[in-house]
Amino acid sequence: MLSGAPQILAQTILDTLREPLLVLDVALRVKMANRPFYRTFRVKPEETENKLIYELGDGQWNIPKLRVLLEEVCSGDMPVEDFEVERDFADIGRRFMVLNARRIQPETGPPMILLAIEDISERKAVERALQIHEKELERSNADLEQFAYVASHDLQEPLRMITSFTQLLAKRYEGKLDSDADEFIAYIVAGATRMHRLINDLLAYARLDSRAAEFVPTDCEAILADAVSNLGSTIEENGAKVTHDPLPTVMADRDQLSRLFQNLLSNAIKFRAAGPPVVHVSARRNENEWLFSVRDDGIGIDPEHFERIFLIFQRLHGKSEYSGMGVGLAICKKIVERHGGKIWVESQAGKGSTFYFTMAA
Ligand code: ADP
Repeated sequence: MLSGAPQILAQTILDTLREPLLVLDVALRVKMANRPFYRTFRVKPEETENKLIYELGDGQWNIPKLRVLLEEVCSGDMPVEDFEVERDFADIGRRFMVLNARRIQPETGPPMILLAIEDISERKAVERALQIHEKELERSNADLEQFAYVASHDLQEPLRMITSFTQLLAKRYEGKLDSDADEFIAYIVAGATRMHRLINDLLAYARLDSRAAEFVPTDCEAILADAVSNLGSTIEENGAKVTHDPLPTVMADRDQLSRLFQNLLSNAIKFRAAGPPVVHVSARRNENEWLFSVRDDGIGIDPEHFERIFLIFQRLHGKSEYSGMGVGLAICKKIVERHGGKIWVESQAGKGSTFYFTMAA
């Protein structure tokens, strides 16, 4: 082993490193250790030097996996890299370590074993906390979806009963009771119809996950053409014009992509300005994703509402001004996120809006 000036130099180099490090002889006695080692594992130099590694800290380094690693290094010429070891230490608690070891043969003197010990306990703790958090989030999302699904599904039946009997009431007794009664019945019918639509939208939202289909190559031009044809009467009534640039084929759930386009187009037409609405759809490739945009020349949106409009049941207008339930954009957001993309809007009140979303290329 080293002595004199080379020993001091080697010790200085070791102490400069941030990682705990041990130099052992082939009998596995500690010949040198650096300051980070003493500091991290709270052992004293006099309890370390010349001790067998397995005796350190009252035998706390007698770790079966470490034995395997050291045997391998002693017997072979190959270094052992990124070997993960977990250990409960009496003083410092549970530690996760990544060990790197190699045997070196100096020009003179016996071979040595260099053992670098990276303490990754903090990183592991953060990773674990993140994993737990992620699991909890997944579970609470699933609960919420299940709740929305069950609630909306089970609400349909009693509602159907209310609707059909009120309709019957209206048909049979309209004009036979007083005018107040006719008015009340009309309110019940309108309320039940609206509730029916709300429940359907909620169910559609909940089913985005439960009824999801495989991603298949999907030609966005064909999907857009379908959406335009489905919105045929709306387009005609509003004198709207829908134009588009060449659109790509992407991997997607076809029905959901079609719903996404349809929701964005129908909003672009519904929230129109005075003149006939003009809507333009385009797509631009950015590295490994496509950036789609749906631009309209409608009433626009105040920037303070940019986030809120994507939440379920959030609307900026009363139902008497514009029809709708406030679910359309929440559905769009969920669809885009299921496809690994993002959706956002850029707009100014009175200046039209552009909805952007991304899809993996
Ligand atoms: P809905 O259309 O049923 O109200 P959405 O979730 O589709 O619900 O949209 C939420 C709100 O965002 C709308 O009520 C409207 O105020 C606003 N919005 C959506 N699209 C546009 C658009 N193209 N131009 C202006 N406002 C829009």
